[in-house]
Amino acid sequence: MAMVKANAYGHGLVDVARYLEAADSLAVARLSEAAALRSAGESRPLVLLEGVFTGADLAAAAELKCELVVHNPMQVSLLSDYAGQYRFAVWLKIDSGMHRLGFSSDTWADHYQRLADLASVRDVRLMTHYASADDPADAQSTQQLQFMQQLMSTFDGPISLANSPALFRDDQDLCGLAGRDAHRVWLRPGIALYGLSPFESVDADALDLKPVMNFDARLISVQSIRPGDKVGYGGRFVAARDTCIGVVAAGYGDGYPRAMPDGTPVLVDGQRASIAGRVSMDMLTVDITDLPSARVGSEVRLWGAGLPAELIAAFADTISYELVTRVAARVRRQFVTA
Ligand SMILES: *Cc1c(COP(=O)(O)O)cnc(C)c1O
Repeated sequence: MAMVKANAYGHGLVDVARYLEAADSLAVARLSEAAALRSAGESRPLVLLEGVFTGADLAAAAELKCELVVHNPMQVSLLSDYAGQYRFAVWLKIDSGMHRLGFSSDTWADHYQRLADLASVRDVRLMTHYASADDPADAQSTQQLQFMQQLMSTFDGPISLANSPALFRDDQDLCGLAGRDAHRVWLRPGIALYGLSPFESVDADALDLKPVMNFDARLISVQSIRPGDKVGYGGRFVAARDTCIGVVAAGYGDGYPRAMPDGTPVLVDGQRASIAGRVSMDMLTVDITDLPSARVGSEVRLWGAGLPAELIAAFADTISYELVTRVAARVRRQFVTA
């Protein structure tokens, strides 16, 4: 089950879905995303990760032939009230300890039975979500896994546990793939599909992942400034020497965070330079003093191959997920086969 929510983590929903030929199903967070995929001819199962919240949305989900995550009693009632012909595949979400979405250990079995008895429901599968699988030192995943293992011993239908970090953990089988269960386990990779590491302390290389996104722009102006000259809004960067400033045609309006501090690395024609001055809406400025060959038209990589999004994210005190997901709609996506 490939996670293509949030515009395929910013990469471009419809195109990415086409490239993910091997996925058995695709998961989205919004009906509009399912609609976009169906309009593009997508015929695989589409999972609505938070389900629906009104009867009208349920009817739309039927029209789009969506599988539904059901995580609260209101959603069970919607299915009970549904009078249409469609029969939904349902993922009953179990709260195994994250306390975000899902039914508790006391209530899930009743709701499971209620759903299984409904004419609008074709079959019921179980899923849960790990809160801290990206932190091998955290004991919570083990507790969540044990909870689910107990449940798996009384239920023999399809089950789905693992996000990207759970897939790569070798200390225990957080995917639930062990032995006779393998055939009924659905994996839910997200960030790893895009070649980014789900772990703070392990980089993508070490996991044999290659970043899918190169976020590139070009230099549109070059300025020579003197010691003491200030650059950009608020004059945050002050030149300490004769300095050459390159102006890049990308800013926070494109999804490059305004929070990026001076010193954040970029690659200009493949060579390291760094942010100098506050990021503007449509532009940002870099110190290219040590790159005499840089000129108007030079390519500037903001993150991607050779400049991990995970590294850049740390400069803005965030994670790669947020960087790639926030690349704005106006940024042209160009798809090339490596
Ligand atoms: C987004 C999401 C995932 C994928 O998480 P990654 O850490 O990106 O692999 C898996 N399961 C659910 C329910 C999600 O919402």
